[in-house]
Amino acid sequence: MINLAGLYCKEIEEILYPLPGYRAKQIYKWIIRGADNFDKMTDLPNSLRLELSQRFSVLSSKIDSVHDDKDTKKIVIALNDGAKIEAVVLNDGKDRLTACLSTQVGCPAGCVFCKTGTLGFLRNLNASEIVEQYLHIGKVNNIVIMGMGEPLLNLEQLRKAVCFFTDPKGMNFSRKRITVSTCGIYEGIYNLAQHGPYIRLALSLTTADENLRQKLMPVTKTQPLSKIKEALILFQKNSGNRITLEIPLLGGVNTRKEDVLSIAEFAKGLECVVNIIPWNPVIGLELEGKPLIEPGKNETAEFIKLLEQNKLKVTTRYKKGRGVSGACGQLGVVPAAV
Ligand code: SF4
Repeated sequence: MINLAGLYCKEIEEILYPLPGYRAKQIYKWIIRGADNFDKMTDLPNSLRLELSQRFSVLSSKIDSVHDDKDTKKIVIALNDGAKIEAVVLNDGKDRLTACLSTQVGCPAGCVFCKTGTLGFLRNLNASEIVEQYLHIGKVNNIVIMGMGEPLLNLEQLRKAVCFFTDPKGMNFSRKRITVSTCGIYEGIYNLAQHGPYIRLALSLTTADENLRQKLMPVTKTQPLSKIKEALILFQKNSGNRITLEIPLLGGVNTRKEDVLSIAEFAKGLECVVNIIPWNPVIGLELEGKPLIEPGKNETAEFIKLLEQNKLKVTTRYKKGRGVSGACGQLGVVPAAV
Protein backbone atom coordinates (compact mmCIF):
# COMPACT_ATOMS: atom_id res chain seq x y z
CA MET A 1 0.00 0.00 0.00
CA ILE A 2 1.36 3.44 -0.95
CA ASN A 3 1.65 5.88 1.94
CA LEU A 4 1.17 9.59 1.32
CA ALA A 5 3.02 11.30 4.19
CA GLY A 6 6.28 12.82 3.06
CA LEU A 7 5.14 13.23 -0.55
CA TYR A 8 4.89 16.72 -2.06
CA CYS A 9 1.45 17.97 -3.00
CA LYS A 10 2.28 17.48 -6.69
CA GLU A 11 3.25 13.85 -6.09
CA ILE A 12 0.00 13.20 -4.24
CA GLU A 13 -1.88 14.77 -7.15
CA GLU A 14 -0.13 12.43 -9.60
CA ILE A 15 -0.84 9.36 -7.50
CA LEU A 16 -4.51 10.27 -7.03
CA TYR A 17 -5.12 11.13 -10.70
CA PRO A 18 -7.88 11.44 -12.06
CA LEU A 19 -9.06 12.96 -8.78
CA PRO A 20 -9.04 16.77 -9.15
CA GLY A 21 -5.95 18.64 -7.92
CA TYR A 22 -7.80 20.38 -5.10
CA ARG A 23 -8.32 17.00 -3.41
CA ALA A 24 -4.54 16.46 -3.31
CA LYS A 25 -4.18 19.93 -1.77
CA GLN A 26 -6.74 19.10 0.92
CA ILE A 27 -5.01 15.82 1.74
CA TYR A 28 -1.55 17.41 1.77
CA LYS A 29 -2.78 20.09 4.20
CA TRP A 30 -4.25 17.49 6.51
CA ILE A 31 -1.02 15.52 6.52
CA ILE A 32 1.11 18.50 7.50
CA ARG A 33 -1.41 19.29 10.23
CA GLY A 34 -0.80 15.82 11.65
CA ALA A 35 -3.79 13.78 10.45
CA ASP A 36 -2.68 10.15 10.58
CA ASN A 37 -5.67 8.62 8.81
CA PHE A 38 -8.21 9.60 6.17
CA ASP A 39 -11.11 9.62 8.67
CA LYS A 40 -9.65 12.76 10.20
CA MET A 41 -9.82 14.57 6.86
CA THR A 42 -13.27 15.89 7.55
CA ASP A 43 -13.63 18.04 4.44
CA LEU A 44 -13.44 14.96 2.21
CA PRO A 45 -16.70 13.12 1.44
CA ASN A 46 -17.15 9.91 3.44
CA SER A 47 -17.17 7.80 0.30
CA LEU A 48 -13.81 9.24 -0.78
CA ARG A 49 -12.29 8.72 2.67
CA LEU A 50 -13.33 5.08 2.52
CA GLU A 51 -12.00 4.61 -1.00
CA LEU A 52 -8.68 6.25 -0.12
CA SER A 53 -8.22 4.15 3.01
CA GLN A 54 -8.68 1.00 0.92
CA ARG A 55 -5.95 2.03 -1.51
CA PHE A 56 -3.54 4.17 0.49
CA SER A 57 -2.27 4.76 3.98
CA VAL A 58 -1.22 8.11 5.44
CA LEU A 59 1.72 6.87 7.50
CA SER A 60 3.94 3.85 6.91
CA SER A 61 5.26 3.75 10.48
CA LYS A 62 3.76 3.68 13.95
CA ILE A 63 4.78 4.58 17.46
CA ASP A 64 6.12 1.52 19.26
CA SER A 65 6.77 3.09 22.68
CA VAL A 66 7.26 6.49 24.31
CA HIS A 67 9.72 7.16 27.12
CA ASP A 68 9.36 10.40 29.07
CA ASP A 69 11.96 12.12 31.20
CA LYS A 70 10.83 15.61 32.26
CA ASP A 71 12.30 17.68 29.44
CA THR A 72 12.91 14.86 26.99
CA LYS A 73 10.72 12.36 25.26
CA LYS A 74 12.20 9.45 23.35
CA ILE A 75 9.88 7.88 20.80
CA VAL A 76 10.62 4.44 19.45
CA ILE A 77 9.07 4.08 15.99
CA ALA A 78 8.33 0.79 14.25
CA LEU A 79 8.82 0.90 10.47
CA ASN A 80 6.73 -1.20 8.13
CA ASP A 81 9.51 -3.80 7.70
CA GLY A 82 9.72 -4.30 11.47
CA ALA A 83 12.91 -2.25 11.94
CA LYS A 84 12.88 0.27 14.77
CA ILE A 85 14.31 3.76 14.96
CA GLU A 86 14.26 6.46 17.59
CA ALA A 87 13.33 10.13 17.55
CA VAL A 88 13.65 12.50 20.48
CA VAL A 89 11.86 15.71 21.42
CA LEU A 90 13.63 18.08 23.76
CA ASN A 91 12.12 20.96 25.72
CA ASP A 92 14.57 23.72 26.54
CA GLY A 93 12.63 24.64 29.69
CA LYS A 94 11.09 27.69 28.02
CA ASP A 95 8.64 25.56 26.04
CA ARG A 96 10.72 25.69 22.90
CA LEU A 97 10.70 22.21 21.44
CA THR A 98 13.34 20.58 19.28
CA ALA A 99 12.80 17.35 17.37
CA CYS A 100 15.88 15.17 16.87
CA LEU A 101 15.31 12.90 13.87
CA SER A 102 17.07 9.81 12.52
CA THR A 103 18.10 9.17 8.92
CA GLN A 104 19.23 5.54 8.97
CA VAL A 105 18.46 2.28 10.75
CA GLY A 106 21.67 1.84 12.71
CA CYS A 107 24.74 3.63 11.38
CA PRO A 108 27.75 2.65 9.26
CA ALA A 109 30.05 5.30 10.78
CA GLY A 110 30.93 3.23 13.84
CA CYS A 111 31.90 6.08 16.21
CA VAL A 112 33.17 4.31 19.33
CA PHE A 113 31.46 6.76 21.70
CA CYS A 114 27.98 6.27 20.24
CA LYS A 115 25.57 3.42 20.94
CA THR A 116 24.06 3.65 17.46
CA GLY A 117 27.52 3.09 16.00
CA THR A 118 27.68 -0.32 17.71
CA LEU A 119 24.43 -1.48 16.11
CA GLY A 120 25.87 -1.70 12.61
CA PHE A 121 23.99 -0.49 9.57
CA LEU A 122 20.72 -1.95 8.39
CA ARG A 123 19.37 0.49 5.80
CA ASN A 124 18.70 4.07 4.84
CA LEU A 125 15.39 5.65 5.74
CA ASN A 126 13.35 7.04 2.90
CA ALA A 127 12.20 10.67 3.01
CA SER A 128 8.72 9.68 4.22
CA GLU A 129 10.19 7.76 7.15
CA ILE A 130 12.23 10.83 8.09
CA VAL A 131 9.20 13.15 7.79
CA GLU A 132 6.95 10.74 9.69
CA GLN A 133 9.15 11.02 12.78
CA TYR A 134 8.25 14.72 12.82
CA LEU A 135 4.58 13.95 12.28
CA HIS A 136 4.59 11.48 15.20
CA ILE A 137 6.16 14.13 17.43
CA GLY A 138 3.93 17.05 16.42
CA LYS A 139 4.73 20.74 16.08
CA VAL A 140 8.18 21.87 17.24
CA ASN A 141 10.31 25.02 16.95
CA ASN A 142 13.51 23.41 15.70
CA ILE A 143 14.56 20.26 13.90
CA VAL A 144 17.97 18.70 14.37
CA ILE A 145 19.00 15.77 12.21
CA MET A 146 21.26 14.25 14.82
CA GLY A 147 19.52 11.00 15.64
CA MET A 148 20.48 7.54 14.43
CA GLY A 149 22.61 7.44 11.31
CA GLU A 150 24.94 9.65 9.28
CA PRO A 151 22.63 12.01 7.33
CA LEU A 152 25.09 12.78 4.53
CA LEU A 153 25.35 9.09 3.69
CA ASN A 154 21.64 9.29 2.88
CA LEU A 155 21.73 12.68 1.25
CA GLU A 156 19.00 12.45 -1.40
CA GLN A 157 16.35 11.25 1.06
CA LEU A 158 17.53 13.82 3.60
CA ARG A 159 17.24 16.55 0.95
CA LYS A 160 13.74 15.45 0.02
CA ALA A 161 12.66 15.45 3.69
CA VAL A 162 14.16 18.92 4.26
CA CYS A 163 12.38 20.24 1.16
CA PHE A 164 9.14 18.81 2.56
CA PHE A 165 9.69 20.61 5.86
CA THR A 166 10.54 23.89 4.16
CA ASP A 167 7.89 23.81 1.39
CA PRO A 168 6.43 27.36 1.38
CA LYS A 169 3.05 25.92 0.40
CA GLY A 170 3.22 23.36 3.18
CA MET A 171 4.97 23.28 6.52
CA ASN A 172 7.10 26.30 5.60
CA PHE A 173 9.69 25.49 8.26
CA SER A 174 12.61 27.94 8.18
CA ARG A 175 15.90 26.42 6.97
CA LYS A 176 17.55 28.41 9.74
CA ARG A 177 15.77 26.24 12.27
CA ILE A 178 16.96 22.96 10.76
CA THR A 179 20.40 21.67 11.73
CA VAL A 180 22.09 18.68 10.12
CA SER A 181 24.92 17.07 12.05
CA THR A 182 27.55 15.09 10.17
CA CYS A 183 30.69 13.30 11.21
CA GLY A 184 32.22 14.91 8.13
CA ILE A 185 31.36 13.27 4.81
CA TYR A 186 33.12 15.77 2.60
CA GLU A 187 31.44 14.75 -0.67
CA GLY A 188 28.09 15.35 1.03
CA ILE A 189 29.16 18.76 2.33
CA TYR A 190 30.31 19.73 -1.20
CA ASN A 191 27.02 18.55 -2.58
CA LEU A 192 25.10 20.65 -0.05
CA ALA A 193 27.36 23.62 -0.78
CA GLN A 194 26.62 23.36 -4.49
CA HIS A 195 22.97 22.38 -4.50
CA GLY A 196 21.59 23.21 -1.03
CA PRO A 197 19.41 23.24 0.90
CA TYR A 198 21.33 25.72 3.08
CA ILE A 199 20.36 24.35 6.45
CA ARG A 200 22.55 24.88 9.50
CA LEU A 201 25.45 22.49 9.45
CA ALA A 202 27.16 20.95 12.47
CA LEU A 203 30.37 18.98 12.12
CA SER A 204 30.98 16.37 14.79
CA LEU A 205 34.67 17.20 14.93
CA THR A 206 35.51 15.47 18.27
CA THR A 207 39.19 16.37 17.84
CA ALA A 208 41.22 17.67 14.94
CA ASP A 209 44.09 15.34 15.83
CA GLU A 210 43.58 13.16 12.76
CA ASN A 211 45.07 9.98 14.28
CA LEU A 212 42.88 10.10 17.36
CA ARG A 213 39.88 11.14 15.28
CA GLN A 214 40.24 8.08 13.05
CA LYS A 215 40.36 5.82 16.09
CA LEU A 216 37.26 7.40 17.57
CA MET A 217 35.35 7.69 14.29
CA PRO A 218 36.45 4.92 11.92
CA VAL A 219 34.49 6.30 8.94
CA THR A 220 36.81 9.33 8.92
CA LYS A 221 39.71 7.20 7.60
CA THR A 222 38.43 8.06 4.15
CA GLN A 223 37.42 11.61 5.07
CA PRO A 224 40.57 13.69 5.66
CA LEU A 225 40.13 16.87 7.67
CA SER A 226 41.78 18.95 4.94
CA LYS A 227 39.00 17.99 2.49
CA ILE A 228 36.29 18.47 5.09
CA LYS A 229 37.59 21.94 5.80
CA GLU A 230 37.65 22.89 2.10
CA ALA A 231 34.07 21.68 1.76
CA LEU A 232 32.97 23.60 4.86
CA ILE A 233 34.55 26.79 3.57
CA LEU A 234 32.62 26.43 0.32
CA PHE A 235 29.41 25.65 2.20
CA GLN A 236 29.91 28.72 4.37
CA LYS A 237 30.70 30.91 1.36
CA ASN A 238 27.58 29.81 -0.51
CA SER A 239 25.16 29.66 2.41
CA GLY A 240 26.46 32.44 4.64
CA ASN A 241 25.74 30.14 7.59
CA ARG A 242 27.86 29.80 10.68
CA ILE A 243 29.18 26.27 11.28
CA THR A 244 28.95 24.44 14.58
CA LEU A 245 31.90 22.27 15.58
CA GLU A 246 30.65 19.62 18.00
CA ILE A 247 33.03 18.10 20.49
CA PRO A 248 31.70 15.07 22.33
CA LEU A 249 34.09 15.24 25.27
CA LEU A 250 35.47 11.92 26.49
CA GLY A 251 37.20 11.86 29.86
CA GLY A 252 40.98 11.47 29.47
CA VAL A 253 40.75 10.98 25.69
CA ASN A 254 40.17 14.17 23.67
CA THR A 255 40.56 16.69 26.48
CA ARG A 256 44.32 17.24 25.97
CA LYS A 257 45.95 20.54 25.21
CA GLU A 258 46.87 19.23 21.75
CA ASP A 259 43.17 18.59 21.07
CA VAL A 260 42.40 22.23 21.88
CA LEU A 261 45.22 23.44 19.66
CA SER A 262 44.18 21.17 16.81
CA ILE A 263 40.58 22.42 17.06
CA ALA A 264 41.77 26.05 17.08
CA GLU A 265 43.87 25.38 14.00
CA PHE A 266 40.98 23.65 12.22
CA ALA A 267 38.63 26.54 13.08
CA LYS A 268 40.87 29.15 11.43
CA GLY A 269 39.13 30.69 8.44
CA LEU A 270 35.69 29.39 9.48
CA GLU A 271 33.02 31.40 11.19
CA CYS A 272 32.09 28.86 13.82
CA VAL A 273 31.04 28.09 17.33
CA VAL A 274 32.38 25.12 19.31
CA ASN A 275 29.71 23.10 21.06
CA ILE A 276 30.98 20.95 23.93
CA ILE A 277 28.93 17.83 24.65
CA PRO A 278 30.22 16.12 27.80
CA TRP A 279 29.93 12.44 26.91
CA ASN A 280 26.67 10.76 27.88
CA PRO A 281 27.55 7.37 29.37
CA VAL A 282 26.73 4.13 27.56
CA ILE A 283 27.78 0.93 29.28
CA GLY A 284 30.18 -1.23 27.26
CA LEU A 285 31.66 1.46 25.01
CA GLU A 286 35.44 1.57 25.00
CA LEU A 287 38.52 2.74 23.17
CA GLU A 288 41.35 0.23 22.71
CA GLY A 289 40.07 -1.92 25.57
CA LYS A 290 39.60 0.96 28.01
CA PRO A 291 36.03 1.85 28.99
CA LEU A 292 35.02 5.36 28.04
CA ILE A 293 34.21 7.69 30.90
CA GLU A 294 32.57 11.08 31.31
CA PRO A 295 34.94 14.02 31.54
CA GLY A 296 35.39 15.40 35.05
CA LYS A 297 33.98 18.84 35.88
CA ASN A 298 37.43 20.41 36.16
CA GLU A 299 38.60 18.63 33.02
CA THR A 300 35.65 20.09 31.07
CA ALA A 301 36.10 23.56 32.57
CA GLU A 302 39.82 23.57 31.76
CA PHE A 303 39.14 22.43 28.19
CA ILE A 304 36.60 25.21 27.66
CA LYS A 305 38.95 27.78 29.20
CA LEU A 306 41.73 26.76 26.83
CA LEU A 307 39.41 26.94 23.81
CA GLU A 308 38.32 30.42 24.84
CA GLN A 309 41.92 31.49 25.34
CA ASN A 310 42.38 30.45 21.73
CA LYS A 311 39.64 32.92 20.77
CA LEU A 312 36.95 30.35 20.08
CA LYS A 313 33.28 30.87 20.90
CA VAL A 314 32.14 27.98 23.07
CA THR A 315 28.74 26.66 24.14
CA THR A 316 27.94 23.58 26.21
CA ARG A 317 25.05 21.25 25.54
CA TYR A 318 22.89 20.21 28.49
CA LYS A 319 22.86 16.59 29.53
CA LYS A 320 19.22 16.23 28.60
CA GLY A 321 17.56 12.91 28.01
CA ARG A 322 19.86 10.64 29.96
CA GLY A 323 16.93 9.30 32.02
CA VAL A 324 15.44 7.70 28.90
CA SER A 325 18.74 7.06 27.09
CA GLY A 326 17.72 9.77 24.68
CA ALA A 327 20.79 11.98 25.00
CA CYS A 328 23.39 12.44 22.31
CA GLY A 329 25.18 9.14 21.63
CA GLN A 330 22.64 7.04 23.52
CA LEU A 331 20.13 6.22 20.79
CA GLY A 332 19.73 2.49 20.47
CA VAL A 333 19.92 1.90 24.24
CA VAL A 334 16.70 0.34 25.45
CA PRO A 335 15.44 2.46 28.37
CA ALA A 336 15.18 0.61 31.69
CA ALA A 337 11.50 1.34 32.25
CA VAL A 338 8.75 1.70 29.70
S1 SF4 B 1 27.73 9.64 16.29
FE1 SF4 B 1 26.35 9.81 14.51
S2 SF4 B 1 27.67 9.19 12.81
FE2 SF4 B 1 28.71 8.46 14.65
S3 SF4 B 1 27.95 6.35 14.93
FE3 SF4 B 1 26.60 7.70 16.12
S4 SF4 B 1 24.88 8.11 14.75
FE4 SF4 B 1 26.57 7.36 13.47
